Amino acid sequence: MIHPVAVLGGGIAGAAAALRLAQGGIRPVWIAQNRQDAFKPGEHLSAAATPLLKTLGSDAMLRSEVHRHAHSTYSAWGSDTLVERNAIIHLEGPPTVLDRGAFEDALTAQAIAAGALRIDQDVGDLRIADGLWHLDTRENRIEAGFVFDATGRKAIVASKFATRFQADKLSCQYALFTSADQDRPRPVTLIETEARGWWYMSVLADQRVIVNFYSDADLPGFANAELEENTQQTKAISAYLSDYGYKISGKTKRITANSSWIAPAIGEGWVAIGDASAAFDPLSSHGMTTALWSAIQAADAFVAKDRSRMFAYADNLAKGVEDYRTALHRVYASEKRWANCPFWARRIEASTKTD
Ligand SMILES: Cc1cc2nc3c(=O)[nH]c(=O)nc-3n(C[C@H](O)[C@H](O)[C@H](O)COP(=O)(O)OP(=O)(O)OC[C@H]3O[C@@H](n4cnc5c(N)ncnc54)[C@H](O)[C@@H]3O)c2cc1C
Repeated sequence: MIHPVAVLGGGIAGAAAALRLAQGGIRPVWIAQNRQDAFKPGEHLSAAATPLLKTLGSDAMLRSEVHRHAHSTYSAWGSDTLVERNAIIHLEGPPTVLDRGAFEDALTAQAIAAGALRIDQDVGDLRIADGLWHLDTRENRIEAGFVFDATGRKAIVASKFATRFQADKLSCQYALFTSADQDRPRPVTLIETEARGWWYMSVLADQRVIVNFYSDADLPGFANAELEENTQQTKAISAYLSDYGYKISGKTKRITANSSWIAPAIGEGWVAIGDASAAFDPLSSHGMTTALWSAIQAADAFVAKDRSRMFAYADNLAKGVEDYRTALHRVYASEKRWANCPFWARRIEASTKTD
């Protein structure tokens, strides 16, 4: 059987594309191995995602108790003073601190219920011949006329046929913290900078705390640094952890978090969406929203059989990446306290090239 379209990758972009295609009356084959990780970092969902979830008929899932509204986000960026980040009221409602696994599982269930044909395996090998994709998994060969590449930063299709640009070497160390204290912790998100990079901490709905430390992968000290010891370098975050008795639980993990993008994001018989098309610095909280947006844009263009709409998607994405890079440079350049330290000096230099 030849499928009209295959969606590769089981993250937010893949789930949203599979769902939207099915809603448009096209049954996609969706090749995506079930999630292995117990915890996936990346939980701060921007309020801008709410209208996109409404488009998908998925916004009710944000009301689940496993997520919490992110009313209080503070950052110490450019000075020691904590400043509230969400000073303006969002018409779409507040941002959300997700239980990321539960959110992805709910989107997946919705896509399958809408008719997406899920194959729970990774794509190993792939090639295109005579306008037809041959996609090999461990057990199957699947043939499809068109491919949605939603395989995240690996971009297994797009990186074969287009150039991937990498703006920096940002990497993240993260770990979960738990507390035996009975006091209910204040549900906050904190961001603060230090000489080697910046820190993020957020209280999840189940009262565990996620702590992320961002620096460049090639800088001395980052690779071997112990996250719990390192939290001593922070002010607001270490004070919060100590006030509520939080201790690290489990191992520190490491993951790439740099800005990278594909140009162009479409080609003969394929389109890239989500991180496969453009992956953003987590400081921006753009990743999940762009995964939803790109999946909807590309799926709607495919359903409408409108090639010019598909090109418009790629153009809008490229413009969005340019705007994002300019804004990000400005934010990093606004932290001047460690201008001579490599992490910050690199970013200040990059900002002088684009401004
Ligand atoms: C440390 C960190 C913190 C972040 N914090 C935030 C945040 O607070 N807010 C926010 O909005 N964004 C955040 N992000 C970004 C956000 O997580 C991503 O933008 C989002 O996950 C993109 O979704 P995706 O579906 O495109 O890719 P992914 O979530 O990476 O999913 C890709 C999927 O493709 C699968 N895959 C890979 N290879 C194959 C293959 N060969 N065959 C089949 N499937 C394959 C993978 O297993 C995976 O399931 C963060 C990112 C990082 C690294």
